[in-house]
Amino acid sequence: MSFSSEVKKELLSIDVLKPCCRHAEAYGMVIFGKTFSSSSVSFKTDKKEIADIYASFLSEECETEPETLEREGKKITVLLKKASDRRKVLEKFGHSQNEVTLRINRANIADDCCFSAFLRGVFLSCGTVTSPEKSYHLEFVVPFLKLSNDLFSIMSEMELEPKHVVRKGSHIIYFKDSEKIEDILTLMGAMNSSLRFMGIKMNKDMRNHVNRRVNFETANIGRSVNASAVQIEAINKIIAASKFDELPEPLQRTARLRLENPEASLNELERLTDHSVSRSGINHRLTKLTEIADGLFDDKEKN
Ligand SMILES: [Zn+2]
Repeated sequence: MSFSSEVKKELLSIDVLKPCCRHAEAYGMVIFGKTFSSSSVSFKTDKKEIADIYASFLSEECETEPETLEREGKKITVLLKKASDRRKVLEKFGHSQNEVTLRINRANIADDCCFSAFLRGVFLSCGTVTSPEKSYHLEFVVPFLKLSNDLFSIMSEMELEPKHVVRKGSHIIYFKDSEKIEDILTLMGAMNSSLRFMGIKMNKDMRNHVNRRVNFETANIGRSVNASAVQIEAINKIIAASKFDELPEPLQRTARLRLENPEASLNELERLTDHSVSRSGINHRLTKLTEIADGLFDDKEKN
């Protein structure tokens, strides 16, 4: 089951006791359905449980007789065939028969408690949320501009910071911020889904942190190995030019140490000298060796 389906399943299991909230949830679901006008009130979904709750809102809240059409391989459609039923629904939610543009009637979301119920209805109707394993994304797909604007305003007032984009003629209200998505899930009453979301997010953050750490250390090892390769090349050049014996004793000792420990970091080389030479002292000598080798090259060119 997708994460989105799990969230919806959890939302469907919530018992809404207060009549005001039940009304608000029904409104959210009905107005964001496929159609909501005097000529058509309908809803489409591929989930039977969601079709059933829509139908029950129409029959119980609005006292109408919805019909459910199910055909093999097609989405389930719930609709009101009788004009008188459609009129009843519009009246119930305070909408007039001949509205040109569909707007949210805030009288249906009267009390603070009703906001979360309303949002739950809207999500059941036109919302989806991506699994946090993949990415952080929650969206509502709204067919009408004004209706999407109203939803956008309500979300903004609740400080959820929605974003808006048009995709295939639909208006998408979406969220990318993981904390806002958690807020919305919690607000709608999907507590378990919200906790699961947080858990997956924390795991992901931890994995990313570990990966970054590993990459950082690999890069550091790479750097010191590269430096070592340059130093060894320099020492070999000095040996090939028969100049090694002419080097001061401390430089000879450090050069041997490096040749014997090609993969050691400067800290490890310091340890190998029993700390008789400091890390920076070793670094200074190795730099000196490369400078001497470079000088040899220059001498040859001059000849
Ligand atoms: Zn309420």
